Amino acid sequence: MTAPALEAPAPTRLWTPRRVLVTRSAAERPHGQRVLARLEAAGVSDVELLPGDRLPNLRGSGGGTDDRAAFMAAKDTMALVVPPPSKRKLQPIPPSADFRLDLAEGCPAHCQYCYLAGSLSGPPITRVWADLDEVLEGLDPYVGQGRITTGTPERGDEGTTFEASCYTDPLAIEHLTGGLSRMVEHFGTHAWPGPVQLRATTKFDDVAGLLGLPHGGRTRLRFSLNAASVGRRFEGATSRVDARIAALGAVARAGYPVGLTIAPIMPVEGWREEYGALLDAVAAVLPAGTDLTVECITHRFTPGSKETLLDWYPRTKLEMDESRRTTKRGKFGSVKHVYPKETMAELRTWFEAALADRLPQARFLYWT
Ligand code: SF4
Repeated sequence: MTAPALEAPAPTRLWTPRRVLVTRSAAERPHGQRVLARLEAAGVSDVELLPGDRLPNLRGSGGGTDDRAAFMAAKDTMALVVPPPSKRKLQPIPPSADFRLDLAEGCPAHCQYCYLAGSLSGPPITRVWADLDEVLEGLDPYVGQGRITTGTPERGDEGTTFEASCYTDPLAIEHLTGGLSRMVEHFGTHAWPGPVQLRATTKFDDVAGLLGLPHGGRTRLRFSLNAASVGRRFEGATSRVDARIAALGAVARAGYPVGLTIAPIMPVEGWREEYGALLDAVAAVLPAGTDLTVECITHRFTPGSKETLLDWYPRTKLEMDESRRTTKRGKFGSVKHVYPKETMAELRTWFEAALADRLPQARFLYWT
């Protein structure tokens, strides 16, 4: 008897970059060549093979002359590069995972709260790393070494965890790169020296290529979800929230462990009803026995991210009013503006009860 075909809803949003820059070293790498083949198949015509490994300055080289034009041009540009060796040493990424495992930096979407605004500098092009095969081959020594999940009483069963969504949305670019599929297959089939898990989170829905992969239950695909009005107002050029939920159902039926990244949580008008409807919609698509985790991240901003976001989205209606926030100071003097204690407590209490009620099988990983 053959297994029933796994069905995926059609993707609702596929990015076509206007311009692709490819460095010489990237074009020589096997993953770089696979990406080039995908770009050709996707009909991306403006692909520039550079004579060396330096990217041109986007301003003045077709990138627009004013800041706005340069920003939009950068957002529509993909670069295929080999990152500097300093990127090879994997860093911890609390509270999500033991290690950050990047396949790219940058994202073509336009979320007006984008967390990348506070962490990446320079023009916001999407840089795809061409050395993926070498990176994957070099992961064994990290197994058993992490501090966030490895060996911990709460999350030790996840093994050593690798987070692929720190600086990009891996599914936003998957149709052009195949990088996430390559990672999923490697995690699913490699003879690892100990238990491991790949983690990725996304605001996209293009999951068809992932469903039949030999994932071995070693990749947890999480979907970044929000109240419908937050998605509509602030998450430009992403897949709609209902489409992400349909994709979540599809990967859960394909046997992937799955997760919800509910982020950034905002106490918008009617938030209880809106987040309640979100959790109900999730419960409706998950098959019985789904291995489900939940991560909850409230909205926050830093002075630097606010400045960058206002520069990128000057007309945004996103609330970034310091006087309505509590200031949290980090060890090295960093400043973060979060919701006041009472708002946090109200949100958290509601979410914990709503999750226990609507998704009782879910494992709650953290609230921040
Ligand atoms: S999908 Fe994620 S990475 Fe992309 S713009 Fe939105 S918040 Fe930023």
